[in-house]
Amino acid sequence: MTEIPTLDPPRRVLMGPGPSGADTSVLAAMGLPLVGHLDPEFIRIMDECQEMMRQVYRTGNEVTLATPGTGTSGMEAAVMNLLQPGERAIIGICGYFGERISQMASRTGAEVTIVTAPWGSPVPPEAIERELRAGPTKLVAIVHAETSTGVLQPVETISALCKEHGALLLLDCVTSLGGIPVEIDAWGVDAAYSGTQKCLSAPPGASPLTLSPAAWSAIQAREAPSNSWYLDLGLLEAYWDSRRAYHHTSPISMTYALHRALALVLEEGLEARWQRHENNGRALQNGLEAMGLVLHADVEHRLPVLTTVRIPEGIDDGTVRGALLNRFGIEVGGGIGELRGNVWRVGLMGESSTAGNVLLFLSSLGRLLREHGFEADVGAALDVAAQGLAS
Ligand SMILES: *Cc1c(COP(=O)(O)O)cnc(C)c1O
Repeated sequence: MTEIPTLDPPRRVLMGPGPSGADTSVLAAMGLPLVGHLDPEFIRIMDECQEMMRQVYRTGNEVTLATPGTGTSGMEAAVMNLLQPGERAIIGICGYFGERISQMASRTGAEVTIVTAPWGSPVPPEAIERELRAGPTKLVAIVHAETSTGVLQPVETISALCKEHGALLLLDCVTSLGGIPVEIDAWGVDAAYSGTQKCLSAPPGASPLTLSPAAWSAIQAREAPSNSWYLDLGLLEAYWDSRRAYHHTSPISMTYALHRALALVLEEGLEARWQRHENNGRALQNGLEAMGLVLHADVEHRLPVLTTVRIPEGIDDGTVRGALLNRFGIEVGGGIGELRGNVWRVGLMGESSTAGNVLLFLSSLGRLLREHGFEADVGAALDVAAQGLAS
């Protein structure tokens, strides 16, 4: 008889661009008893998720739900529902995920204008303003935390410009929510989506999404329904609000995980959580520089949750990442798009953002770089990082 496969995934230190590590209570939540998706107890769980999502997004938006699917499902729901053929959209692109939004926008038949910035800088508000002045615009979309480059995109100036020109603002919060400040109402963001496996630290599989009253009105005023049936936000809202109109079967266990992960975020407190990510991210970045490495993102726009560090001359990308994984159990990401082969992407998201992980990574990377001929100053790196972590 052939052997029946066993399931035995290794325990890794997840320091890549996602998934991040999940708390055991989040993983255990997925093992709780299944109930029916219209069971009153499950409806209560969905309602609680909805209320916790509002708190984490800092919004009073009535229309707040989680699309079934990873972060890209929220992106597709937002883009497909907010744009109609012939409408104008301005998409800010300074990395891989902005590019993905623009591809989706093109598929709606909208007239897409792209505004680009080098991979390592944010999109300048003046460039968005120039395009807003060029003609009436339905939607402006930007990526808050560009996971391909490690760049933080400032939102408020662009949001004010959108208000001034009557455009809706869509914000990709996949890597920012739960890790760095996100203020949907205070910033005047009209639509936002996120993912579970980045700074919220649950397994991948749901996308928290929120719509301002203006964005919701725009969707309700569509001439024709969205081309996507599964991600039709009108149908999804009818499932999430008091109508509970069947649309799909909620991913029950995933919803349990989301519930527990959101509760952990609120138990820690948003401000404390942002501070933790900030401290650990800065300690890592200072440590990498003390080691003798060069960070890729502009110094004034570096994300604490995702750091891009340039691969030194003569060092092989795959060899070092393979050794980090096989010898130290650490996963980091390689570069994507324009940065393929040029940088490593080191995530400190959610449960993975710990002082221990910062020190473990610096010492492991330093050791491997020295083996391959790069004179990494491991002592200085650990010293600088530990000093930052202790203060
Ligand atoms: C990860 C990510 C996505 C896509 O999310 P998936 O869960 O992989 O579908 C979108 N935008 C950004 C900024 C991301 O980091």
